[in-house]
Amino acid sequence: MPELPEVETVVRGLRPDLIGRTVVGAWTDWPKVLDDVSLVELTATLKGRRISAIFRRGKYICVDLEGVFLVIHLRMTGRLYLSDRAEGDDRWVHFSLALDQNAHMAFSDSRKFGRVLLRHSLDFLEAKLGPEPLTLSDADFADILQGSTRAVKTFLLDQAKIAGIGNIYADESLLRAKIHPLTPVDRLSRKQACALGAEIRRVLEAGIAHEGASISWYRKPDGNKGESQQHFMVYGRTNLPCKVCGTAVQRTVVGQRGTHFCPNCQRR
Ligand SMILES: [Zn+2]
Repeated sequence: MPELPEVETVVRGLRPDLIGRTVVGAWTDWPKVLDDVSLVELTATLKGRRISAIFRRGKYICVDLEGVFLVIHLRMTGRLYLSDRAEGDDRWVHFSLALDQNAHMAFSDSRKFGRVLLRHSLDFLEAKLGPEPLTLSDADFADILQGSTRAVKTFLLDQAKIAGIGNIYADESLLRAKIHPLTPVDRLSRKQACALGAEIRRVLEAGIAHEGASISWYRKPDGNKGESQQHFMVYGRTNLPCKVCGTAVQRTVVGQRGTHFCPNCQRR
């Protein structure tokens, strides 16, 4: 699933082409992709509006159309790109937003788990999402951890606690902070908690710099792969040597999620 660095890369890739464009229509061949609105209603609301901003909140893409928001969640296999055809450039496009100059913002999603929402406010996102990790100080991150007895890996994936981290960047952050993924949050020292906050920022910033991880479906808006996967220290490296110490990486399951860790660097 695309995580913060992948979603941020999509937003940055689309921004120069989208800002200032005017909506002229919308298309779908699978209305369920629209979470809470009909295509007719969406089109009537957005037609003639100009895209004033596109940004990310957690794993959500928010397109600001002069105060009305198109909110897109890529989920497992979502891709967002510009096409000159309403049906997009691949057979998994089920929604597109028609813009001026014959451009279409195409939403491709083979598994159909992704969703497009139309909202007049982003309060619903603020109500369900924790803070953004990239702008959180180490101390503020440590404060968020206070009082939880859950496994630290599970905690990091909880979008209500901290937004945007998924399986890949949680595993990478925990390796770098030398914390075992099953460690209960309340067993972490203040120093460990601050170190984890710093490593999360470092790992996410590196992920953005490498334009996301193309291990399965994720592609940049230009269709090319990101390169973050080439820099993984532990994620997906079961039985391969840990890039810190050379010990074989192990895979376990934490909160139903496949979890990679180094038994030497990350002791319980
Ligand atoms: Zn190691």
